[in-house]
Amino acid sequence: MSKRDYYDVLGVENSASKEEIKKAYRKLARKYHPDVNKEANAADQFKEVKEAYEVLSDEQKRAQYDQFGHAGTQDQGFGGFGGAQDFGGFGDIFDMFFGGGGRRQDPNAPRQGADLQYTITLDFEEAIFGKEADIRIPKEEECDTCHGSGAKPGTKTNTCGHCNGSGQLNTEQSTPFGKVVNRRVCHYCNGSGKIIPEKCQTCGGSGRVKKHKTIHISIPAGIDEGQQIRVSGKGEAGVNGGPPGDLFVVVQIRSHDFFQREGDHVYCELPLTFAQAALGDEVEVPTVHGNVKLKIPAGTQTGKTFRLKGKGAPNVRGFGQGDQHIQVRVVTPTKLTEQQKELLREFNAVGGHDSTEEHDSFFQRFKKAFKGD
Ligand SMILES: [Zn+2]
Ligand SMILES: [Zn+2]
Repeated sequence: MSKRDYYDVLGVENSASKEEIKKAYRKLARKYHPDVNKEANAADQFKEVKEAYEVLSDEQKRAQYDQFGHAGTQDQGFGGFGGAQDFGGFGDIFDMFFGGGGRRQDPNAPRQGADLQYTITLDFEEAIFGKEADIRIPKEEECDTCHGSGAKPGTKTNTCGHCNGSGQLNTEQSTPFGKVVNRRVCHYCNGSGKIIPEKCQTCGGSGRVKKHKTIHISIPAGIDEGQQIRVSGKGEAGVNGGPPGDLFVVVQIRSHDFFQREGDHVYCELPLTFAQAALGDEVEVPTVHGNVKLKIPAGTQTGKTFRLKGKGAPNVRGFGQGDQHIQVRVVTPTKLTEQQKELLREFNAVGGHDSTEEHDSFFQRFKKAFKGD
């Protein structure tokens, strides 16, 4: 049997662009698709068109075909172009033109239940130390009365005679493109493929009921904002005996008055008086692990950071422990008594404004600039 040239089949030039090939294919596929064209040889023509398109739309296969022709396509170790010679079926004209979104699904096939998401809000410390929590989530469960069948106990469900259990009805429609097959959910059985003569009174025939369920979760120490805990199998119940979905618990953390968190590290600010910063001091600072004594050396500046090793959050995956970082802010007094003011004037008079390195160098540069040397 001699095969027609693929370019001839699609009616395009050998130099046709990808777009031209696609366009020609769509036109011919619409013309010959067995759902539309009831002529005896339509199926064979459709196969021929589809085969030609499968080769010419693939750059590599097209190059092989251009070089070796049909002979090349079968003997060059391509396995006949991945089954291009052997069509199991015609595919669905809808899948072909409108993407795979309308793929036919057997309504009786087991399906996994939907995943659920729940947001839990934790205190700052709870996130650092972890927590055992019971959360109440609304979820759909299989109905206990009918065990998911939707039928009143003791009665049977029947296969829907309108769609033969497929859950979908095909109707032919004339459109400007020619006849197309329109597929929609069977309205006799609402897409389930089943007719329930006597519905279960607990679930009204859906086989599922809304319940609140309490689920215990362990929140690991060191969990951070936005992280999720996956609780396997605690999502919604599966359909037709499919497995349940998963529950994802998303963590939010309340802000803290004093601490901030970044990864495993905890940050805070420490206000010091001018005298503490200048003379040095020992102060008690809070950490999430309790108060810690911190030595402030004399001459500490605003912005100086001290690190308390291991006083942050544990790494949620078990890789060590974060630190606490304390940043100093020297506070300028705003309400001074007369006596305090007098002491500060005295301090200035005995050379207070010459007592910092920054001050010194600033005034030296200032003097230099105006002397002109
Ligand atoms: Zn039906
Ligand atoms: Zn029920």
